[in-house]
Amino acid sequence: MTSRSILRALGAALLIGALSGCQHTQEYNETFLVFGTLVDVTIYDDDPNRAAAAMETARADFNYMQRTWHAWKPSALYRINQLIPSGAEFSAGPSILPLIERSQTLSVQSHGLFNPAIGRLIALWGFQSDDLPNTPPPQDAIRALVAQHPAMADLQVKGLRLRSSNPAVQLDFGAFAKGYGIDLVIERLRALGIENLIVNAGGDLRAIGRHGERPWRIGIRNPRGEGVIASVDIQGDESVFTSGDYERYFDYEGTRYHHIIDPRTGYPARGTTSVTVIHSDGADADAAATALFVAGPTQWREIAKSMGVDKVMLIDDQGVVHMTPAMAERIHMQIKPVPTIRISPLE
Ligand code: AMP
Ligand code: MG
Repeated sequence: MTSRSILRALGAALLIGALSGCQHTQEYNETFLVFGTLVDVTIYDDDPNRAAAAMETARADFNYMQRTWHAWKPSALYRINQLIPSGAEFSAGPSILPLIERSQTLSVQSHGLFNPAIGRLIALWGFQSDDLPNTPPPQDAIRALVAQHPAMADLQVKGLRLRSSNPAVQLDFGAFAKGYGIDLVIERLRALGIENLIVNAGGDLRAIGRHGERPWRIGIRNPRGEGVIASVDIQGDESVFTSGDYERYFDYEGTRYHHIIDPRTGYPARGTTSVTVIHSDGADADAAATALFVAGPTQWREIAKSMGVDKVMLIDDQGVVHMTPAMAERIHMQIKPVPTIRISPLE
C-alpha cells in the first residue's frame, strides 16, 4: 500500500468515525428547582452542542418564570396582587398577562372550579407559604372571602393595562403555571431543533417525540400508600398532569386539610384523592386536573366535557377508580389487588 492510499483509507475511516459520532443519539439530563419542585429535563438528541444550548435555554426560562410568577415572594405577580385592591387601572407585567387571559378562558370552561382569583383563600389557609400550617383558619374568615366571589372575570385587560372590579381578587397560578411554563419551554426547545424531549416536574410532565425505540413510560402515584397505582406509555406530543390531596396537606383533629380549595365552599375539596389528565398541552391538562379534583366523583364528567379533555382518571376517597374509555385504553393498573374500576363516557 502506498503512503497515499494509506492516507486515503485513513481519511475514509475518519470520515466514517465522524459521521457515526454525529449520529450517536444520547440522553442529556438536567434538574432545575422551579415552581417549588424539581423539574427534570431529558433531551434525546444526536448533537451535544444543540442539547447543551437547549439546556441553557431551559434554565434561563425556568429562572425567569420563578422570578416573575411567584405568588408570595416579590415578583411581577406579587406586584399585581398589591395593586389590584386599589380598583384603579395599572400597567401589568407582560409576563403575567397571557397567564391571566388563558386562565380566564379555562376558568369559564371549568364553571369556576379552576379559579386562580382565590389567592386570598389560599393565603388564609396558609398554603401560600414554604411551611405548612397546622390548624384550619376561622370559619367566619373563610365565609367572608367566599361571599366576595373573587373570579377571573372580575379582571379587565386592555392592552398592557389591568384593572379589577373586585378588590377581593388575588391571583395564584399554582394550579396552572407549571403546565403553562412547561409548554413555553417545550416550544422554545422545539424551535432550537430538539425533537425528543421530556420535561417532568415531580410526575407532572409533557413529552414530545420518542425515547429511542421505547416510548416514555410514566408512573402515576398511588394516592394512598407507597409506589405507583398505574402506568402510561407516552409517545408523540402529550402531557400527563395529576392533582392529589397528598401533595400539600396537614392533619387536624383527624381530618386531612389539603391545598386544593373548592371556591364554592372555601374549604379543601372533598370526595377525591387524585385526578390524572392526559392531554396534548400542559396548561390545559394542569388546569383540568385541578378543576376535576374540585368537581369530584359526581361532577367530573360534566366539567371534563366542558374543558375539552377526554382522558381522565379520578380516584375517589373510597379508593374507587373512575375513568373515561379513552383513558382506559391508555392506562395499565399496577397494584394488586386491582381496585374497583368504573369506566364511563363523558356526559
Ligand atoms: P395543582 O397541584 O395543580 O392541583 O394546584 C394546586 C394549587 O393551586 C394550590 O396549591 C393553590 O395554590 C392553587 N389552587 C387551589 N385550589 C384552586 C382552585 N380551585 N383553582 C385554582 N387554583 C387553586
Ligand atoms: Mg393543576
